[in-house]
Amino acid sequence: MTINAEAKSQTGDPPGQLVSINPADGSVAGSVAMTSVEQLDQVVVDALHAFHASGWKALLPHRRALTLHAIADGLAAEKESLAELQMRDNGKPLTECRAMVESAIGTFRYYAGVCETIETDVTPARGDYVSFTVLEPFGVVAAITPWNSPVMNDAAKVAPALAAGNAVILKPSEDSPLLAPELLRIALKAGLPEGLLQVVQGRGADIGAALVAHPDVRMVSFTGGTVTGRAIGRVAGERLIPMALELGGKSPHVVFADADLDHAVAAVVAGIFGSSGQSCVAGSRLFVERPIYDEVVRRIVERARSLKVALPDEPGVEVGPLASFHHRDRVAAFVDRARAEGGRILVGGAVPTGGVYDGGAFYLPTVIEGLPADAASCQEEAFGPVLVTLPFDNEADLIEQANGTAFGLACGIWSESFKRAWRIGRALEAGSVWINTYKQSVISTPFGGFKDSGIGREKGIDGLRLYAQVKSMYFGLHAQPMTVAR
Ligand code: NAD
Repeated sequence: MTINAEAKSQTGDPPGQLVSINPADGSVAGSVAMTSVEQLDQVVVDALHAFHASGWKALLPHRRALTLHAIADGLAAEKESLAELQMRDNGKPLTECRAMVESAIGTFRYYAGVCETIETDVTPARGDYVSFTVLEPFGVVAAITPWNSPVMNDAAKVAPALAAGNAVILKPSEDSPLLAPELLRIALKAGLPEGLLQVVQGRGADIGAALVAHPDVRMVSFTGGTVTGRAIGRVAGERLIPMALELGGKSPHVVFADADLDHAVAAVVAGIFGSSGQSCVAGSRLFVERPIYDEVVRRIVERARSLKVALPDEPGVEVGPLASFHHRDRVAAFVDRARAEGGRILVGGAVPTGGVYDGGAFYLPTVIEGLPADAASCQEEAFGPVLVTLPFDNEADLIEQANGTAFGLACGIWSESFKRAWRIGRALEAGSVWINTYKQSVISTPFGGFKDSGIGREKGIDGLRLYAQVKSMYFGLHAQPMTVAR
């Protein structure tokens, strides 16, 4: 079925339903029932009951691991259909969607493997006592995810939260609601006790906010925009519940004159135009050392112009549509503002027209120069295929400009000098530093942001510990009765 996506945004979703529109052609990708605030209360009651009654928390970690492996197996068995569903739900190229399902599978396997490590730490006996720390689950945790990589982001929270023994209530984005119910179905089929994983659907301001405020939700893990993260943080702070926040970025990608330019140019292009720029770690600000600035920018513009912008399942597609029509309009408005600020559009800067472009939420890969580092377009996240380029004269100039945003998620550095790359990598305010590579991600390596890009680290053992609270236990070995003054 093809519907007019603009008509949908004017009339809203049918009552009680969320309709996912395929941004490649405006057709209906699927729909889900919205959870009402009254239903949410029952969902939390059920999750809390499952946490206490299912025995999941008390299960030995290697037993929990079996279920997590079974969920990974279930995802693997349906890899292709899940990738296709995500492609219809948010428009990412099929090859990227496959990689995201692979990532979700790897995440469940990793946390199956490491949940043994959560057991206990022992401090050697000190005189008349011995102490242990044990890690315990919080109970019911909320996992709130964005629309850009639903299956991967959902797994990044659900797998470690379950591994640590919690019950999880997952709220996916209203713009990509179709993958979370599939994860739930697969988890139940894999033997996860009923009630331990719940999915609620709806708009962030309604059901998301109600979830964070619910008195029986004891921890919140959020990935999304910084404004939303702040709103959630205020509620979590008031309620004194722990939070993990994975937020936005405006990551600097730096090219020094001694870099391998073939590799650097390819990585800059992949780093911003992959996923149509809808990646929290998109390298959206390019800094080039002044002597090679013109050459590097020329090569990037050439490459951006030649990228294959096409339907997400077309062979050889490099840039698909944006995830929704309203997000495409936001990106267009971002570029219009950059123009008004005095930016020169070197390539792109427009909605492509003709053929398949007329039916989808496409926007051309765009490179903008001529803006100062403090311009709004160099400070704010576009979350689209938009690169701003800036020259720098020396390391001090680079560090000042690159660190001059509120964000601190990631950065890339291209230089053949190890010492310089190390020095700059230490000086830049970013949770992930990529040297002579970009956007690599390993499940065992922590990921998260400095400054307004977040609080806490997902992935690795840190990602497991997010979902556990520390209990310290002391055993007395006193030979004599205790005295009052010790
Ligand atoms: P968003 O903040 O608008 O929404 C994210 C989720 O929060 C959605 O499920 C939404 O319904 C919910 N939500 C909205 N308001 C809420 C509220 N008041 N209380 C509770 N929940 C609420 O973000 P988005 O537009 O879906 O995603 C894009 C953003 O996500 C970008 O800023 C991007 O950088 C960021 N992101 C960050 C990472 C990371 O790991 N750092 C990864 C992917 C995306």
